[in-house]
Amino acid sequence: MIACPVCRAPGPAPFLRVNGADYWRCGVCLATVLDPAHRLSAAQERAHYLTHENDPADPRYRAFLSKLADPLLARLKPGAEGLDYGCGPGPALAAMLREAGHAVALYDPFFAPDRAPLARAYDFVACTETAEHFHAPADEFDRLGGLLRPGGWLAVMTCFQTDDARFGAWRYRADPTHVVFYRAGTLRHVAAQRGWSCEIVRKDVALMRAPG
Ligand SMILES: [Zn+2]
Ligand SMILES: [Zn+2]
Repeated sequence: MIACPVCRAPGPAPFLRVNGADYWRCGVCLATVLDPAHRLSAAQERAHYLTHENDPADPRYRAFLSKLADPLLARLKPGAEGLDYGCGPGPALAAMLREAGHAVALYDPFFAPDRAPLARAYDFVACTETAEHFHAPADEFDRLGGLLRPGGWLAVMTCFQTDDARFGAWRYRADPTHVVFYRAGTLRHVAAQRGWSCEIVRKDVALMRAPG
């Protein structure tokens, strides 16, 4: 791996081999990245996503999404306009934000592939359980930045990588569509590279903000 796909720094180092799959570690942003040779095909990824739990009416799933929705809603002005980037097959987060009075557009390369919503800017972009699936994270975060109005929020939820000793046995790692793992500091680095603020409001949730 020549450059880190998260921060573009040269020379990630071999980190761990698990069941024949190699993982790399960036010494600058501390991202952990699955070797591209071990990624699934797009068809395999799509089939796997359909097995994720994503029922908008499921109270447990709503409680899970509220970890991001509650702190984001606390910061939005009434009637804000946003985008659920990577909404998946059952856009539960969008439903929750709409119930709170906000407009929410959808984009997902597999399940809402119309790219028209990517041609404008928003007061907020929510990216829940999506960033760990990015094959080109730096390019994706650049694109997300282009979707933010001045002062706009980028709300990211992904399970933070913490304990290196547990990485091999970590269930989140074992999901074959999860190809990049972020520490809290990795997301701070992503934000700082683009001039955004970054608040880690709780474990696994970062609220980034473009300058106003
Ligand atoms: Zn990096
Ligand atoms: Zn996932």
